[in-house]
Amino acid sequence: MDARAAARERLDSLRSRIIDLSHAIHANPEPAFAEAKAAAWISELLSDGGFDVKTGICDLPTAFLAKSGRGPLHICFCAEYDALPEIGHACGHNIIAAAAVGAGIAAAAVADEVGLTVSVIGTPAEEIGDAGGKILLLERGAFADMHAAMMVHPAPFDVLTPKVIAASMFEVRYTGKEAHASSFPELGVNAADALTIAQTSIGLLRQHILPTDRIHGIVVHGGDAPNIVPAHTTARFIVRGDTLAALEVLRPRVYRCFEAGALATGCKLEIIGGEKPYSEMIHDPDIAALYKRNAELLGRSYPNVGAEKQKSAASTDMGNISRALPSIQPMIGIQSFPAVNHQREFAAQCVTIEADQAVYDGALAMAWTAIDLGTDARLRNRLLGDRSQEAESRIQESESRIQESE
Ligand SMILES: [Zn+2]
Ligand SMILES: [Zn+2]
Repeated sequence: MDARAAARERLDSLRSRIIDLSHAIHANPEPAFAEAKAAAWISELLSDGGFDVKTGICDLPTAFLAKSGRGPLHICFCAEYDALPEIGHACGHNIIAAAAVGAGIAAAAVADEVGLTVSVIGTPAEEIGDAGGKILLLERGAFADMHAAMMVHPAPFDVLTPKVIAASMFEVRYTGKEAHASSFPELGVNAADALTIAQTSIGLLRQHILPTDRIHGIVVHGGDAPNIVPAHTTARFIVRGDTLAALEVLRPRVYRCFEAGALATGCKLEIIGGEKPYSEMIHDPDIAALYKRNAELLGRSYPNVGAEKQKSAASTDMGNISRALPSIQPMIGIQSFPAVNHQREFAAQCVTIEADQAVYDGALAMAWTAIDLGTDARLRNRLLGDRSQEAESRIQESESRIQESE
């Protein structure tokens, strides 16, 4: 039996456990950095699958690293498993986790034979928007000896190289002064007004930003009672640009809108976080081409989705990984449209037959891609050399860019 067939046979033998894992994570949504059950269940299955598993790596209790094989080319599959507040697994990270486990177990079956070391890395807190799990793991060296990284992300339809833009999430706090809103309003300093002015300014700014820029946020705390002048308000905002460079052009313009709120009302402004932004994604063309061929062999297709849907762009800390080592993050379709990510309707679609098929296809397409990388002499040599040369400069550039934004 050849390596690809052996990997498939291994995946088939564990298919029901991998699908059960996807459903269990989905049924127990845990938010960023609190994914204790998910991390434990994933680690257990990988351990049963013969992986050497280390939990709580890099001082992150819900991160883990599972390793198998002794080949020189080290390929890693990234698992995400955090859920969204209130709407559960509406980004389908249960599918990401199960597909990564499946890919790891399938590729591990032939790792030594094709010269691979296979890792599944558990990366918490993707949805957090600032200092995500992968950024912290990367900074703390978890990816240091890996040559390529892969993951699949569920979406309404398959997209090989989705547009992934840079993003930064931060918290805004205004502090004013309470007063009786009717008896002595002239003694109050209104922190809700500060936020209103900031949001009005941002609304006006939107006419003068790039079409690829985005600014969006929520008011987390707007006051305590209508008869008390609000002394404390809090908001969380995200700014996004095509690249980290574009993001850093937009960021100070948005910060000035928040300063305007403070200036006009006399409130004190604090901006917290935003120091570790998510990078745009650099999809590795060689790995993406292999993945496409393998996914097509499993019956997936990549039709032109049209200009409107191509404008769709999200952000992920996988972008930061892609700056450090060759990476892909294809979207794997679960045929949910018009239900889209971050909707309750999408969450409901993440445990359907189509979702389970996405787990299986994503796992096998990634495992086969890893085997291809191990057995194609040109690509193998490129990746082995890449890590020591080209990638080092990518890491340095990435780090200096992250530092610049601090
Ligand atoms: Zn999401
Ligand atoms: Zn997601």
